[in-house]
Amino acid sequence: MPVESHRFTVASRGETHVLDLTDQVEGRLGQGQIRNGTATVHVVGSTASITTTEFEPGLARTDLRVAYELFAPVDGEYEHEKTWNDDNGHSHVRASVTGPSITIPLIDGKLALGTWQQVVLIDFDTRRRDRTVIVQVIGDC
Ligand code: ZN
Repeated sequence: MPVESHRFTVASRGETHVLDLTDQVEGRLGQGQIRNGTATVHVVGSTASITTTEFEPGLARTDLRVAYELFAPVDGEYEHEKTWNDDNGHSHVRASVTGPSITIPLIDGKLALGTWQQVVLIDFDTRRRDRTVIVQVIGDC
């Protein structure tokens, strides 16, 4: 079964910055031959995540930050920070719970997403980062 892998880089500001990747992911898939199968979107690194949301300012700039602050506060106490003299314990916890990748069905060349469902990268780290995103699709041409 054919496999195609695509890779691109995005610049993030960190601190729970939410970036809409939908156009970039669909653009890469459009360059490939596979029309039906499963697409995995993955971010390399342990302080960022890939998920979906409705990409609008209320969620992307405020509501998700508020929710993440409830279960992994920036000013919380983290063994990771004590051990490594690091400042991003909350970043790792948020990224682990959310996960580094998602899989989305690819049907007739289109990702099975809702109108109000975008593929997003959330960067939880405490500084600007360049993030490598891999889109791998397995399926039939
Ligand atoms: Zn760390």
